[in-house]
Amino acid sequence: MFFMPGCVVVAGFVMFCTKCGSESVFKSGFVKDEQRYRCRDCGRQFVSTRHKGKSETEKLTAILLYINGLSLRTIARLMRVTTTAILMGMPIRHFEL
Ligand SMILES: [Zn+2]
Repeated sequence: MFFMPGCVVVAGFVMFCTKCGSESVFKSGFVKDEQRYRCRDCGRQFVSTRHKGKSETEKLTAILLYINGLSLRTIARLMRVTTTAILMGMPIRHFEL
């Protein structure tokens, strides 16, 4: 497995800056027992938070289901989220229907 020099690997995942997406981060102390990191490119400090919410693949799946005619309520039931969560994850609110 190849990683860029200067990047931090945690549990097999490369840490990315939450602001600019750079892999050039380094450990910068602890906050409430959580490891804090700092970005070499933009200086942003952040902690490694666990990913919340559905993955991009699942969001894309929801969009494809909607395009293919399923109702928001049905998609929400299939994906075990609220109808509002489906709406917030979709770009459909930008479309004129
Ligand atoms: Zn950054």
